[in-house]
Amino acid sequence: MTKRVYNFNAGPSTMPLAALERAQAELLDFQGTGMSIMEHSHRAKHYEAVHDEAIKLIIELLAIPDTHQVLFMTGGASAQFAILPMNLRTDESAGDYIITGTWAEKAYQEAKIVGKPSVAWDGKKGEIWDSLPKQSDLKLSANAPYVHFTTNNTIMGTQFFDFPDSGNVPLVADMSSDIMWRPIDVSKFGMIYAGAQKNIGPAGVTVVIIRKDLIEKGRKDLAKAFRYSEVAKNNSLQNTIPTFPVYMIRNVLAVVKEEGGLAATEKKNRKKGEILYSAVDGSGGFYRCPVEKSARSVMNAVFRLPSEELEEKFVKAASAAGMVGLKGHRSVGGIRASMYNALSIEAVEKLAELMAKFQKENG
Ligand SMILES: *Cc1c(COP(=O)(O)O)cnc(C)c1O
Repeated sequence: MTKRVYNFNAGPSTMPLAALERAQAELLDFQGTGMSIMEHSHRAKHYEAVHDEAIKLIIELLAIPDTHQVLFMTGGASAQFAILPMNLRTDESAGDYIITGTWAEKAYQEAKIVGKPSVAWDGKKGEIWDSLPKQSDLKLSANAPYVHFTTNNTIMGTQFFDFPDSGNVPLVADMSSDIMWRPIDVSKFGMIYAGAQKNIGPAGVTVVIIRKDLIEKGRKDLAKAFRYSEVAKNNSLQNTIPTFPVYMIRNVLAVVKEEGGLAATEKKNRKKGEILYSAVDGSGGFYRCPVEKSARSVMNAVFRLPSEELEEKFVKAASAAGMVGLKGHRSVGGIRASMYNALSIEAVEKLAELMAKFQKENG
C-alpha cells in the first residue's frame, strides 16, 4: 500500500484519498476516450460534463438558491482581492472592510489600489489579531457597495461562527479556508469566494458564488478577463480555464456528497476541533491557544508551547510520527494544525496522543 502521511498542511492541503484514486484510475484514459481529461478541449463534451457536474455539486451541497451563480476564475483568492472592487466599487466607495487577520488586511490593501475602501473594524494588536468583532463594534456605512470579511483567519486561527449583519448592503466573504466546512445560508451573501486549494480541491482555480443582480450591476470599465458579467455570461469558459483543477473539485465534492454532504462534514470537523482543543486545554498550560476562546477556528488551530525550542522539537517529533505541516505561519510562529474537510478524525487523535506524550517527556 502507498504510504500516506497525516497532512496538516495549511494550503495546498490534504485531499480525500478516494478523489485522488479516482483521478489515478481515470488519468490515462478518461471514459474510454484514450486520453486524460487534461488533454480534452475545454469546449468538448467530456470536459463540459465534468465542468457542469462540478458546478452542480457546489450548488447542491451548499443549497445555493437560483438568485446566485457559480463561477470559476483564476489568480487565487488574492486576485479576487482586486477583482471584487474593480467590479463592484462606486466612485465614492470600494467597500467596508472588517479586518481580522493577514488575509483580510491584504484584501483591504488591494481595494485601496483600486478605489476608496473604508475600515469597518480592525483588531490588530502588534503583529496579530486574536479576536473577532461584535456586531456593535462595526462601523458600517449605509451606502457602501459591499461589506467584506474573512470567515476563517487561516494564519491567526480565528473563525466566524455567526456572520456580520450588513443590512441591505451586500455581504462579501473570503471563505478560502473554510468554504463548505458546514451548511450555510448562501442567500445572506452577495458574494462568496475561495481558492479551491484548502477545502475543496487543488490550487489553480477560484470558486466565486455571486448574486446575479451584482453581476449585472458590475462595472464595465475594466478588462473582460476580470469582469464578472463576462465570466458569468460564458459559464466561466470565456477562455481556457484550468480544467484539471475543476475536474479535481468534481472528484472531491463527489466524495463529500457520498459521505453525507455538508451536515456530515460539519459533524466530522466539529469532532476534530473538540479533540484538538481538549488536548490544549487539558494540558495545564503546557499548550496554550493565543486566541479568544469563542473565536477558535475549527479549521486552523494555532497553539504555543512554553518555548520556541520546544515548538521546533515538537514539529520534529510530529514529523517522525508521520504528521506533517504543523509549523505555524512564518509571520506568527508556534504550531498550526490545519484540519480541513479531508483530514480524518484519526489524524487529530494521533496528534492529541503525540501532544500528551511530548508533554510527559518535556513538561
Ligand atoms: C490562503 C488564503 C488566501 C490566499 O489564497 P490564494 O489562492 O493563494 O490567493 C486568501 N484568503 C484566505 C482566507 C486564505 O486562507
